[in-house]
Amino acid sequence: MSVVLGGGIGGLAAAYYLAKGGSKVALIEATNRLGGWIRTIKDPETGVRFDKGPRTLRVRGDPAANTLSLIEELGLEERLYPITMDQPSAKNRMIYVKGALHLLPSSVSSVFKIMPPFSKPLLLAMLKDLVAPAKKGKDDNIYDFVQRRFGFEVADYLVSAMICGICAGNAKDISVKFLMPQLFEWEQNDRSVLVGFLKNIVKSKPGAKVAGGALIEKALKDRWSIFGFKGGMEAFPEALTDRIVTQGVDINLGKEVSRISFQNGEVSCLVNGKMLNAEHVISSLPANKLSPLLKEEHPILSSELAAIPFVDVAVVNLAYKGKRLSKEAFGFLIPPSQQVPILGVIFDSCNFDAGDWTVLTVMMGGAWFDKYFGSNVKDDQLLELAVSKTKEILHVEGSPAAYHVSVMRNCIPQYVVGHFDRIDRIKSYIKDKNLPLELVGSSYTGVGVNDVILSARRAAETRLLRKAAA
Ligand SMILES: Cc1cc2nc3c(=O)[nH]c(=O)nc-3n(C[C@H](O)[C@H](O)[C@H](O)COP(=O)(O)OP(=O)(O)OC[C@H]3O[C@@H](n4cnc5c(N)ncnc54)[C@H](O)[C@@H]3O)c2cc1C
Repeated sequence: MSVVLGGGIGGLAAAYYLAKGGSKVALIEATNRLGGWIRTIKDPETGVRFDKGPRTLRVRGDPAANTLSLIEELGLEERLYPITMDQPSAKNRMIYVKGALHLLPSSVSSVFKIMPPFSKPLLLAMLKDLVAPAKKGKDDNIYDFVQRRFGFEVADYLVSAMICGICAGNAKDISVKFLMPQLFEWEQNDRSVLVGFLKNIVKSKPGAKVAGGALIEKALKDRWSIFGFKGGMEAFPEALTDRIVTQGVDINLGKEVSRISFQNGEVSCLVNGKMLNAEHVISSLPANKLSPLLKEEHPILSSELAAIPFVDVAVVNLAYKGKRLSKEAFGFLIPPSQQVPILGVIFDSCNFDAGDWTVLTVMMGGAWFDKYFGSNVKDDQLLELAVSKTKEILHVEGSPAAYHVSVMRNCIPQYVVGHFDRIDRIKSYIKDKNLPLELVGSSYTGVGVNDVILSARRAAETRLLRKAAA
């Protein structure tokens, strides 16, 4: 039997892939619900739905192709809500700089123009890369890398804001390999990103791809930019749950794992005071939650896991009656240099049909949670701040008809400089000690839902192959 720890999307996907391959699986989840950070709630008075965690998924790349294959396997195609590239919410992404909202360049022609807040056409920033010296090293923070190659404005306005949007993090701490591993490699090998890029066009060969099905073909043909689910993202873990129930996975809710030990190639998990023995374990727990469970037997592994930092995010969902926004867009992000105590706002009702409502999600905190809010912030304070900033920046007047406030503690891991070396050390440790343990989830090789699902599939396949070979 295999044990899967954690019932977020990572644990559910791992259980699905294991059971699909014929394994007997027990899934252990500490809380009384499945889905982890994926949570959709319905306001009881207005019926408006709010997503507390993820709401859209990307379409490009292997992890996305894998997610779309999974969606096909679950028969969930009809529940999808695609956002195509020609829709305003796909084309229009904004940043808030110097007290005003600015559209980000979204076409090739915009690279040749001066687009405020940038003081020069982005093409000039790209040309800077041709003359800027390279800095040799194993890793760098993404802010310094981008500033060195493309200048201050691209680093500060564009990349810092993007990092806030992707992981609520500080670009001055986050590894360049998190978002731009190829660009960093080109700098290291070819001194310039552009030179590396051009050389790569000449010699590039198609790499190994995750096999995609009809849905990825359709998504690419119909020019999907991103997609969500009708009725909210929680539809996805719900469908996975239904499927693993029919596969016979033994789901244990309200059961917390407090220790993991290994002996004779097998694993024992202490679950609510009782020992559960298995041949193998896939942990989808966040690294900071897994770390203490291994401390007794594997202190080195435990301290490597504990060194992966996490940030807290406050999520305030707001619903106003009527259509209140003057510009249709995905939303806007605020570079940290602007010293505004919010990370950005998602325009949910532009991305999805919300009837006669303006639905917004205000994200706050992240790497700056303590600076702006300390440890005892009250929901009322967060709500007041979200409403006042919405009014100031978007000119949405009055009070929201519905709202929901949550502080999500330690919800996003931070891939700081040195993260990928740490992951290599963690993997080597597990391999060298021959532990029957696979790690899945957002703490390791990608923070998005697609990355997590692909990590689950790879972990399950590794396990199934080892079992078949034994
Ligand atoms: C505010 C926010 C917005 C986001 N937006 C996006 C987005 O738009 N697109 C995108 O792709 N991604 C987004 N993400 C990231 C995405 O939500 C995560 O990548 C994904 O949900 C992580 O899933 P997981 O299964 O790895 O972890 P989790 O969801 O953290 O699941 C881990 C599970 O383990 C359980 N657990 C913990 N300790 C124990 C224990 N000791 N015993 C048993 N069970 C335990 C927890 O209760 C939890 O259910 C967002 C995240 C947040 C927080």
